[in-house]
Amino acid sequence: MDNIKKQLCKYGKLVLEKNLAAGPGGNISARVGDFVYLSPSGFALDEIKENQWVKVDLKTGKQYGRLKPTCEISMHLGCYIARDDIKAVIHTHPPVTLGLISAGVGLKPFYPDFVAMLGREIPMVEYVIPAGEEIRQAVVEQIKKYNVVLLKNHGAVSVGETLKEAFTRAWMIEESAKMQVVGMIAGKIRYFTENEIKGIENLKAEDYRKALLKTLK
Ligand SMILES: [Zn+2]
Repeated sequence: MDNIKKQLCKYGKLVLEKNLAAGPGGNISARVGDFVYLSPSGFALDEIKENQWVKVDLKTGKQYGRLKPTCEISMHLGCYIARDDIKAVIHTHPPVTLGLISAGVGLKPFYPDFVAMLGREIPMVEYVIPAGEEIRQAVVEQIKKYNVVLLKNHGAVSVGETLKEAFTRAWMIEESAKMQVVGMIAGKIRYFTENEIKGIENLKAEDYRKALLKTLK
């Protein structure tokens, strides 16, 4: 359990280090058994101490401690309830991605790691007001089928079997958005064809890489 709090501190810092959120924006959580540990409301993700992660019982909704959890708690819990394999949820406000998707431009695969880590496509949901039932429903509906969801005029959500996996996805979303913008400025991007996507999905080496990501450090 202490280990998970250490990891939450580590990945919370990384979210800000990699410019995936600014100020108190974004929130992260991890699941251990029937308990979920969430970032507290009003904190920048890089200033949360090990004893400040808010413990919540996934089955009863009971909250422990004096700090309030992130206002996006229902979106986080909804993801864990929807899929048993999810052990970490990361919600970010990545600037390049946010600009791109708010202009109506989605992210599409045009290099191998995109397909291996983010999937063959990334759903993009229309803007809904944050921190409530609407955003929970919109995100959970997509998370049933995808590991990454883009939220127009808001940000992104990624999930994983470990914090490392969820974080890597969050980071890769923003890196992909940067590459896509560069490609769009330089000319016309040649996106992957269906066959090229299938080729990556069938690659054994990529399975190995994904398996490596799932091990805890
Ligand atoms: Zn947000």
